Amino acid sequence: MQHYDYLIVGAGLFGSVFAYKAMQEGKKCLVIDRRPQLGGNLYCENVEGINVHKYGAHIFHTSNKEVWNFVNSVVEFNRYTNSPVANYKGRLYNLPFNMNTFYQMWGVTTPDEARAKIEEQKAEAVARMHADGVTNPRNLEEQAQTLIGKDIYEKLIKGYTEKQWGRKCTELPAFIIKRLPVRLVFDNNYFNDRYQGIPIGGYNVLIERLLEGADTRLDCDFFTHRQELESLADKVVFTGAVDEYYGYRFGKLEYRTVRFETETLDTPNYQGNAVVNYTEREVPYTRVIEHKHFEMFGAEVDNCPKTVISREYSSEWTEGSEPYYPVNDERNNALYQKYKELADKETNVVFGGRLAEYKYYDMHHIVEKALRCFES
Ligand code: FAD
Repeated sequence: MQHYDYLIVGAGLFGSVFAYKAMQEGKKCLVIDRRPQLGGNLYCENVEGINVHKYGAHIFHTSNKEVWNFVNSVVEFNRYTNSPVANYKGRLYNLPFNMNTFYQMWGVTTPDEARAKIEEQKAEAVARMHADGVTNPRNLEEQAQTLIGKDIYEKLIKGYTEKQWGRKCTELPAFIIKRLPVRLVFDNNYFNDRYQGIPIGGYNVLIERLLEGADTRLDCDFFTHRQELESLADKVVFTGAVDEYYGYRFGKLEYRTVRFETETLDTPNYQGNAVVNYTEREVPYTRVIEHKHFEMFGAEVDNCPKTVISREYSSEWTEGSEPYYPVNDERNNALYQKYKELADKETNVVFGGRLAEYKYYDMHHIVEKALRCFES
């Protein structure tokens, strides 16, 4: 019977980067996942020659040169630049808020005109609050309007935020929005990071290369085969849910989830962009993702006769749905601390990744964390 240095529970990005580093040091790894495929949330399904991001659209971005060099040493990345568009009642606006947006909103053509318009709208919002006898914003609506004014709030923030949270902006706390950055330049690049892109060939290529040389078992739940699996390795790297690891003994951690409705369409180009946000409340979904635009550019788009789109619906997590976004409120954070105390006492198990640490991490954080975790 083969014996391993590491049993890695979860073939997502954390487990895969950890395995790659371990194998480079000559360690033997067994990587298991309860899903039928490798890659965790990065997994893409090939439909009509298009990589469909099955667990949500993923764009790699980072300013960390070490992380960027590391991922590019495994697979080359393409030049995809995220520049989402907002659709409000059939009119289109560029995001993030920049000179293009202000031109589309008000017809202003210079940074001075845009700045003056924003300041005027902010002052009006403050005046409305003062008229109500209020000095500090009492809710998200008031907060957003004092930061950016009424027009942008009502057309580009209100409906989208209400769909995301499932509550009215007047019922959401002000602290959710701390800043609303505006750019007084014509720049639709969503991320401020130095590097961004999608692995050439898709995320599955990245994961397959990271796991080259590891033994893998899919459809394999750690808890169902725990005794056998633990006996196969010296150490366990656990990237599943920490509360599940401890049998939910203190209670369950809560998540928000996203539901995707995916459709293949008989047209080469549905919306001309990878990401279109629907910012009005009446449209039930928050975004439409057109997957081919992550990896196909120019003539490649038309050369592929079909397209695949996903409508995204934000929803509360219920038993059996995917746990996507941790709800880091007081109750859940306190609960997580209790599990963390147990986890910190383990000598043979390392906990890593978004589920084990109950924290939202972007992919670049995960790569950095996994590299550091192996080193230590
Ligand atoms: P996962 O990918 O979840 O991997 C954990 C794996 O463990 C899973 O495959 C799971 O099946 C397996 N597992 C759990 N329990 C068990 C068990 N008991 N037995 C066996 N296997 C088990 N980041 C970005 O940088 N850019 C983006 O654009 C971006 N978009 C996102 C969109 C959405 C909707 C979401 C939810 C996240 C997004 N992220 C994005 C974050 C990104 O998904 C994470 O950083 C990354 O996937 C975390 O990797 P992980 O290995 O920690 O977790």
